[in-house]
Amino acid sequence: MNASVGSSTGQDPGDEDGPRAGRVGRAADVAQAEDLQIAGITAMSTVDWPGRLVATVWCQGCPWECPYCQNHAIIDPTIPGVVDWERVEDLMNRRHGLLDAVVFSGGEATRQAAVVDAARRVHEAGYEVGLHTAGPYPRRLAELLGMGLVDWVGIDVKAMPGAGYEQVAGRQGAGVRAWTSLGVVLDHRDVGHEVRLTVYPDGPTDGLEVARAVRERGGRHFALQQARALGAPDGFRATAIGWDDQVRALARDIEALGFESFTFRPV
Ligand code: SF4
Repeated sequence: MNASVGSSTGQDPGDEDGPRAGRVGRAADVAQAEDLQIAGITAMSTVDWPGRLVATVWCQGCPWECPYCQNHAIIDPTIPGVVDWERVEDLMNRRHGLLDAVVFSGGEATRQAAVVDAARRVHEAGYEVGLHTAGPYPRRLAELLGMGLVDWVGIDVKAMPGAGYEQVAGRQGAGVRAWTSLGVVLDHRDVGHEVRLTVYPDGPTDGLEVARAVRERGGRHFALQQARALGAPDGFRATAIGWDDQVRALARDIEALGFESFTFRPV
């Protein structure tokens, strides 16, 4: 089923996984928060939205397959969620005054149409909404931001568009989707952001070009992350001779670009 920007129904027309079943008995074209396939919840986190105390909702499934994925165990989109939305509601009811926000992460949160209603329900409960995305569904992202349902986005950019991107994400067209999504985020000046680049020894070598392009497009907050082996798929190589020095040099070059804020997350 196709959905257009401004609609909260159905799957993104660019969904590479096909329609996602909601709960039995619910109209398939009206996704509610209760339909969200949730792999887990972190009740309190200081790292998922820098500067905020948040609860994090880990959404099941991602259409991409990055070799360094830290959440590899929850990227299979055919596996249903194991946590009911009611638990998120319950957490929000109990944590007023303690938590600032709820962050939707994954997996890929924008894969599911239900994230739109879920974000609305978080706002209605009096919390800010954060979102982690790699940008595979620019239209749903535009819908969320256009409706004012998201206050901050942590968005991954993995390489310049093209073959290098597809090498990382494992899907054709991934780079175009991700950079379109980046444009959506940067066009919403009222929404906070952090653009994140994760590097690894066998990955693309265009990190500085990526950071420069993000800066030229109006990116204000940038983070360089060094991929870790922990949680990644078997066989992923996180280290190599001289790798740490290369990443530190890249961090220095990116810092010199003059982002409003630059964060380096080494291993
Ligand atoms: S886009 Fe993110 S969640 Fe999806 S496979 Fe890559 S690192 Fe994992």
